Amino acid sequence: MTATHIIDGKEIARNLRKGFRARVEKLKARGITPQLDVILIGEHPASLIYIKNKEIAAQKVGIKYQLHHLPEDTSEEDVIALIQTVNQSASHGILLQMPVPPQMNALYLLNQIDYKKDVDGLNLVNVGRRTLGLDSLLPCTPKGCLTLIKSVQPVLTGMNALVIGRSDLVGKPMAQLLLRENCTVTQAHIHSRDLPDLCRMADIVVVAIGKPKFIQGDWIKPGAIVIDVGINRVDGKIVGDVDFEAAKEHAHAITPVPGGVGPMTIASLLENTLEVAEAV
Ligand code: NAD
Repeated sequence: MTATHIIDGKEIARNLRKGFRARVEKLKARGITPQLDVILIGEHPASLIYIKNKEIAAQKVGIKYQLHHLPEDTSEEDVIALIQTVNQSASHGILLQMPVPPQMNALYLLNQIDYKKDVDGLNLVNVGRRTLGLDSLLPCTPKGCLTLIKSVQPVLTGMNALVIGRSDLVGKPMAQLLLRENCTVTQAHIHSRDLPDLCRMADIVVVAIGKPKFIQGDWIKPGAIVIDVGINRVDGKIVGDVDFEAAKEHAHAITPVPGGVGPMTIASLLENTLEVAEAV
């Protein structure tokens, strides 16, 4: 077997950003400054890191970044009023950072975002449009995973794809995107039986379960493409949902954690913002 290809998400994201910079320049020449607005409610520690990373990435490519940071005890009405104001503003992309405080209804709030500016692709209009195969903004992590898969295998028609995990954020939209690429898609979840056998039949495996090193190396079909979305902290280190060292002995191509899917999530967010700005 030829050497396993380690899919370098950092490098792919870096190359994408070069293209984004050129797109920003073109927009600016048309008098349009692309703008991303992020709404954060409360002080969730991981969210504070994520939004900082988004700010740095946006600024690197010349996208204007606007943070709206509200206190934890803000009323839902005030959040809705803010979203409505941003909907009407010059903003091209609006992202409500998850999780929102427990007293709030996340889906209700997401649905207040103008679907044409919903750069996380999570409100009901975008979910519905995606399900029907209509144009829609795509959730950032699955979009990034698809870019990584296509960096190895541009045409996916007829391939057996297994998505492990069925969250609204990752698993479900990932399965939809692979179906749209004409894969034969299996969606596995916590109640699925015979997961090792399902893996052994899959040409593409995308794992998003949040369990460290759960997917074993000998479950991987020789020559498969393995995308590991998981982020788990173990003994102070970040590891994925796949036993990387063992799986890379079987896979044709595999993403590391960190440095695989993570950088692509932010790249997709920037790309979605540019797509909205270019459509103006
Ligand atoms: P979630 O907790 O919402 O969903 C987990 C899913 O895994 C569920 O659908 C469940 O049915 C399934 N599952 C759990 N145990 C299973 C098992 N033993 N066998 C089969 N299926 C099982 O998770 P999520 O939001 O989709 O996130 C999943 C992981 O991806 C987490 O580690 C999260 O931190 C990570 N994540 C990473 C990024 C990124 O940018 N890299 C983005 C989003 C999520």
